[in-house]
Amino acid sequence: MSDVYEKVVAKNPNEPEFQQAVKEVFDSLTPVLDKHPEFRAAKILERIAEPERVIMFRVPWLDDTGEIQVNKGFRIEMNSALGPYKGGLRFHPTVNLSILKFLAFEQIFKNSLTTLPMGAGKGGADFDPKGKSDNEVMKFCQAFMGELFRHIGPNTDVPAGDIGVGGREIGFMFGMYKKMANEFTGVLTGKGATWGGSLIRPEATGYGAVYMADEMLKAHGKSLKGATCLVSGSGNVAQYATEKINHLGGKVVALSDSSGFIYDEEGIDADKLAFVMELKNIKRGRIKEYVSKYPKSTYTPIDPNLEYNPLWDIKADVAVPSATQNEINGKDAQNLVKNGCFAVSEGANMPTTPEGVEVFLDSGVLFGPGKAANAGGVAVSGLEMSQNSMRLSWTREEVDQRLHNIMKDIHNNSLEAAKAYATNDKEINYVNGANIAGFLKVANAMLDMGTWG
Ligand code: NDP
Repeated sequence: MSDVYEKVVAKNPNEPEFQQAVKEVFDSLTPVLDKHPEFRAAKILERIAEPERVIMFRVPWLDDTGEIQVNKGFRIEMNSALGPYKGGLRFHPTVNLSILKFLAFEQIFKNSLTTLPMGAGKGGADFDPKGKSDNEVMKFCQAFMGELFRHIGPNTDVPAGDIGVGGREIGFMFGMYKKMANEFTGVLTGKGATWGGSLIRPEATGYGAVYMADEMLKAHGKSLKGATCLVSGSGNVAQYATEKINHLGGKVVALSDSSGFIYDEEGIDADKLAFVMELKNIKRGRIKEYVSKYPKSTYTPIDPNLEYNPLWDIKADVAVPSATQNEINGKDAQNLVKNGCFAVSEGANMPTTPEGVEVFLDSGVLFGPGKAANAGGVAVSGLEMSQNSMRLSWTREEVDQRLHNIMKDIHNNSLEAAKAYATNDKEINYVNGANIAGFLKVANAMLDMGTWG
């Protein structure tokens, strides 16, 4: 196993996030490979860590002053053993090959866990939508899709949103795709509800992460009712995680953005959340503006000199990190544990560093890794694809019920796999469970299909 990992590192130098994601999965798979020598013989690990295809392209566009701007566009078509490539697009200045390959790699196991027929992909650009006019965002999206359209299709590759790509951007990209391909087809998910989008898709990732927390807690005799919760981020995932925690009787006391976090001891109820949604989705403002509206709350700016984030030092029972990768380090995890936190459900992708994960697992915290906990988003994207193929739409209640059932299955399948491969009967390791349950389905499909699986 370590030989294969060393080769991945040598072949993918300067890609720390990708290496980190591969290592975490490989570490979980040792007992599986021991039981299944056929996976070794077929070089499944070597193949699964190599994208089927990487597309990189120039994105030139005209800004509002008439000047040409040039960004880098990417699409990683990672694995198609279970279905068309599927995964989001991220627009953020930090986007690079390493980050997109880590996300595409995670997507393989996540999509497999949803039980739906989806392969894995990820893409995006180093474009920063912050501070751009709607017109500039549209010009960029059109230029981006002007190249991407030739690589995607409803049976080939179906992108969705991620950081920096919400309903507005999906709309602009879908319009351009429709023009270039001369067809109206389900090529992107996260579309508007009146033109092919699924109800509950905007809510799905946040709701799903909270359903996962709820399932972990119930399986261990606990509940979200009355629990104090920390949520990081204030974007799509954070907003709907907050809404679902409120529905289930918990209290969210913190939200953040890349500049800092707010703390509201009284809880962010439905009215306050509506203010955050308008602030972030329409006014595109900063989370610190929350404090002007609700003066009993406090704002703490990010201090780059601190080796921990004080957000994770607030006393709470449950944490749902929903901003970005590596936002909870070992020290942050220790602070959460010290203050009595007993469950963490990762709304974001890989928000906890390997040191942080180790602290949670060693302390017996119920830890739902992103590839299980945030799979609700891609699951409802899969349901959007089904509705598009059938040319009909399900009600909110029907989609939410299906999402809830999928999250229950993800929880149960991860827990079962964790128990089946545990080294002792006290161990509750959802990280291993999710990696193993996700891997087995893809690996068996790849075996069935021979070298092109
Ligand atoms: P949004 O763009 O809607 O929101 C992202 C939030 O995280 C914003 O509050 C943003 O702050 C903050 N953030 C972004 N980068 C950083 C950073 N480097 N440091 C601190 N804060 C940061 O994205 P989503 O809510 O869609 O995505 C959040 C996470 O969830 C990501 O990890 C994404 O991959 C994951 N995810 C999303 C899914 C979805 O369906 N949307 C599906 C599965 C996973 P600011 O406003 O300052 O940029």
